[in-house]
Amino acid sequence: MRENFYRCPDCHEEWAEPWECEVDEDCAHCGTRRITPYKSLPMREGFTFDT
Ligand SMILES: [Zn+2]
Repeated sequence: MRENFYRCPDCHEEWAEPWECEVDEDCAHCGTRRITPYKSLPMREGFTFDT
């Protein structure tokens, strides 16, 4: 698993999601489509997301 970090170019919302690889996501705040992660890290063992 990877830990992907996103930042919306339109509303500047930031979030992170676990994925098998680097994938584009839609902004849940303003709906901007296909945002590419600006950072992707290998998932740390036992890591959990707060949200
Ligand atoms: Zn947005």
